[in-house]
Amino acid sequence: MINQESSILKPAVFLDRDGTINEQMGYVNHINRFHLLEGVAEAIRSLNEKSIPVVVVTNQSGLARGYFPKSLLDEVNVKMEKLLAQEGAFVDGIYICPHHPEAKEEQYRVACNCRKPKTGLLEKAALDMGLDLKKSFVVGDRWSDLKCAVGVGAVPILVLTGYGRGDLEYIGPRQEIQPTFVGEDLREAARWIIANL
Ligand SMILES: [Mg+2]
Ligand SMILES: [Zn+2]
Repeated sequence: MINQESSILKPAVFLDRDGTINEQMGYVNHINRFHLLEGVAEAIRSLNEKSIPVVVVTNQSGLARGYFPKSLLDEVNVKMEKLLAQEGAFVDGIYICPHHPEAKEEQYRVACNCRKPKTGLLEKAALDMGLDLKKSFVVGDRWSDLKCAVGVGAVPILVLTGYGRGDLEYIGPRQEIQPTFVGEDLREAARWIIANL
């Protein structure tokens, strides 16, 4: 008999990186510029405890622009996972768009389908991990994150860390898409998600 259970898709929480997980610094072009925001590990741990997959989705056009090498991106991922692990938290996946249509680096010069607000990163993760995008949540500090959420039918959540507060005040009023929930930070966002799973 076919195991029906294995074909059931799970909801996930997609997290933007810069300004949502770590301090917004512009380009994280050195390992020393990566600092977890307060409460982030606790927030992710609370999602881990609910067995809801947590997936990082991040645009890193600094690679395309030649600001830093791929090795730095790998190093930052290791640091992020280590800092989270120190507080008992983990992410289930990290998906990165390194592209930019006007990239200096030829290998990354492409009008891709994965640079947020495009939805390629989320679709790839959904295929890899068996996720139900329409039951998922996307948390970020920019309208591009919210647009990406709506693009896949997920719940858009804005955090006021990073660019969030400014985007809410100056960008948001002109936008058609609005967040379903606005949280002070990832801790508040995770609390809301768990209450609305
Ligand atoms: Mg961001
Ligand atoms: Zn891309």
